[in-house]
Amino acid sequence: MSVILTLLAALIATGACAYHRSSLRTWAIATVATTVVVGLLAGALWTTFILLVIELAIAVPLLMDGFRRKQISAPLLKMFTKVTPKLSETEQTALEAGTVGFEGELFSGKPDWHELLKQPKPELSVEEQAFMDGPVEELCGMIDDWQITHELADLPPEVWAFVKKHKFFGMIIPKQYGGLGFSALAHSAVLQKLATMSATVASTVAVPNSLGPAELLLHYGSDEQKNYYLPRLAVGEEIPCFALTGPYAGSDATSITDFGIVCKQMVDGVETLGMKLTFDKRYITLAPIATVVGLAFRLYDPEKLLGDTEDLGITLALLPRSTPGLEIGRRHFPLNIPFQNGPLHGKDVFVPLSVLIGGPHMAGHGWRMLVECLSVGRAISLPSNATGGVRAAVAATGAYARMRKQFGLSVARFEGVEEALARIGGLTYATAALSRATAAAVDRGEKPAVPSAIAKYHATEMGRAIAGDAMDVHGGKAVQLGPKNYAGRAWQGVPIAITVEGANIMTRSLMIFGQGAIRCHPYVLKEMQSLSIADYGDRLKTFDRALFGHIGFGISNAVRAFTLGITGSRIGDTAGDAYVRRYYRKLNRYSAALALCADTFMGVLGGKLKFKEKLSARLGDVLSYLYIASAMLKRYEDTGRPEADRPLLAWAFHECMWRTQMALDGAIRNFPVRPVSWLLRALVFPFGRREVPPSDRLGRRVAAIITAPGEARDRLTEWVYLTPTANNTIGRMNALLPDVIAAEPVERKFGKAQKAGQFKSHDYNGQLAEALQAGVINPAEFELLKRVRDGVAEFIAVDDFDAAELRAAVTRADRKKKLADAA
Ligand SMILES: Cc1cc2nc3c(=O)[nH]c(=O)nc-3n(C[C@H](O)[C@H](O)[C@H](O)COP(=O)(O)OP(=O)(O)OC[C@H]3O[C@@H](n4cnc5c(N)ncnc54)[C@H](O)[C@@H]3O)c2cc1C
Repeated sequence: MSVILTLLAALIATGACAYHRSSLRTWAIATVATTVVVGLLAGALWTTFILLVIELAIAVPLLMDGFRRKQISAPLLKMFTKVTPKLSETEQTALEAGTVGFEGELFSGKPDWHELLKQPKPELSVEEQAFMDGPVEELCGMIDDWQITHELADLPPEVWAFVKKHKFFGMIIPKQYGGLGFSALAHSAVLQKLATMSATVASTVAVPNSLGPAELLLHYGSDEQKNYYLPRLAVGEEIPCFALTGPYAGSDATSITDFGIVCKQMVDGVETLGMKLTFDKRYITLAPIATVVGLAFRLYDPEKLLGDTEDLGITLALLPRSTPGLEIGRRHFPLNIPFQNGPLHGKDVFVPLSVLIGGPHMAGHGWRMLVECLSVGRAISLPSNATGGVRAAVAATGAYARMRKQFGLSVARFEGVEEALARIGGLTYATAALSRATAAAVDRGEKPAVPSAIAKYHATEMGRAIAGDAMDVHGGKAVQLGPKNYAGRAWQGVPIAITVEGANIMTRSLMIFGQGAIRCHPYVLKEMQSLSIADYGDRLKTFDRALFGHIGFGISNAVRAFTLGITGSRIGDTAGDAYVRRYYRKLNRYSAALALCADTFMGVLGGKLKFKEKLSARLGDVLSYLYIASAMLKRYEDTGRPEADRPLLAWAFHECMWRTQMALDGAIRNFPVRPVSWLLRALVFPFGRREVPPSDRLGRRVAAIITAPGEARDRLTEWVYLTPTANNTIGRMNALLPDVIAAEPVERKFGKAQKAGQFKSHDYNGQLAEALQAGVINPAEFELLKRVRDGVAEFIAVDDFDAAELRAAVTRADRKKKLADAA
């Protein structure tokens, strides 16, 4: 017994030190002291002696800096240098671009929640709010999405003019250049609101404010370029596009085959140093109408006119539309969301070097320029458009499901529909928190490379799930296209959001964890960077510090993951109110589990992990869900811990934790080295998988929130255009919703009388009049039922067309004939 007691005491001391991340010195003192005191008091002299020998044998060599470096770190450095895959220049650039924010804490295994909660609450300024209430509201009132998507395949001229006049294209351009100089939050809010009316308008506005000429000029442009272009871009006098993608360079944008050759040519009788560009680009948004084209190409200088380097690398230039030889203007047709998008080409197009963004000295720096700017645009455009879409889905589907009756009941009352409504509500809560968190990160001055990838992937994927559910709940109403259909186009456009700015499969499987693991890990990047230190002494010293920090980190995460696992996350640091305290503890547990698995996977598989995309994707999912859950908790705090939001938060949080568990379990189960997989399972899931998806009861509460007016629903539908204008069916449906709900008990009374055969009339209006006469309903109730019946009739109606209306104005045969005639 005394032996067990002594062993146990030493083990607990070691575990406690590891759990709290104590230093090696503290661990040595605490363990030796505990062993001596408990061992002597318990009278286990031999055990105490043996334990002390083991403890000192570990502690002493590790605490002697010189010995440790020479005997342990030096051989490991040699091995590490051999097995570490050399980062390509592209990977190195991608890793160096961007900053690490709270996602670093999630990767640490011991997140500091107070860091998260002390971040300022994101809010619109008075001026930004006025823009939302003024021009944005007015623009939404002008939008007829059917006219845009079906009749014109473009924005009408008055919408183009309005957008330019009110500087919608200049949201990211500072005021000194005539732009609006908005915060990222305001930029996001504008896009969200526009997306609730038209994906085409939102995409058109998003692109000039995302990665493209304006953003690149702001960071790298010469003063002359900035002073010329930025004021013109701000007021839409210049329409920009940015052309990177081509037939052979999609996801792997570095493989562009477009090239420029530095050369001299006579221009207006003057010998001019310039480049001959040959390019073939496709999918370029705004290209058909662009007046200035941002072009990415590889620049070569075979005659060494610029210096000693022949292959200068990826380079960025701005070409005016009038550039001779630039073929531009044709359009692609992206899934019935007809924002301007098309190809552009050129062969041996001569331009002076002054068109290079930043001037000739920026030749070859194009890739770095792109990745440094990418995260900011990616954090806003797609996540905001998706968030606007899902907020609108809440407003539309919640109202429609309540007013659409089948089998004598609102379809919202059927459990099957309720399940879809719960997903719409819960995932919208998560999406809204996620895009708010990434916009806030940009406003704090971060370049959120990993969160922007998380936001892009998860906001669009949750958007995809919600769009599907919204379609299902609407049934045929959403299938029949026409001016009355407000859901179909959003659903059609989902794959566009999935594909652009980093196609989702690649974003999930390669980027989130791939970048997160190295960038957010407290030691891996330091270890890798130490290898490039020229001086051996410094290299060894830096490597030694990072390595032993890393080992301690790994042990601590194993202990934390196991301890929090066996205690069911009931202990540990926490924050927030009593309702959410347990949520923070769950996040602590999975943060430790993620850190443990990430380290183990990287340690065992090394560079091969990069090619194990299915494992990497799952660990990326874990990081993403932890990030989304943290964003939701922050939003809950920022909005004053509203009780009304708790079902939404609870649903979304449990969904996140369940998905986290399944992703972790999938990663561990599929880890190719079986003993490692077994050990990880024992540490991470000591009692198996205990998380469960949100319960049916919780789902019912979420469905109730989104199908009736209320403060939680108002927050969920923030920035949805709900003004009941003639062009806004969703707004008018929501205006009728209180009446629909007030009418429900009256309808029950009326229905009872109907079933009892009290009415002679066969039509609804006749029966209503009889009900009034018979005193079944009073005059106010009569008016209410009539109003609701008429309103709902309008909302359940769908469009029909004359056969000729559906035929394309220009057929392929017409086009062929035109071409033949021209030839
Ligand atoms: C409507 C629209 C607008 C666009 N606007 C612009 C624009 O303005 N400017 C511009 O330059 N480009 C633009 N693009 C291009 C867009 O960025 C690319 O479509 C995107 O990068 C994907 O390239 P791809 O379509 O050729 O797909 P591919 O690269 O052929 O990819 C096919 C599939 O393979 C997956 N995949 C590829 N590599 C990997 C990997 N290593 N691991 C896992 N999966 C992988 C992808 O995720 C995808 O699912 C636009 C595209 C569209 C459709």
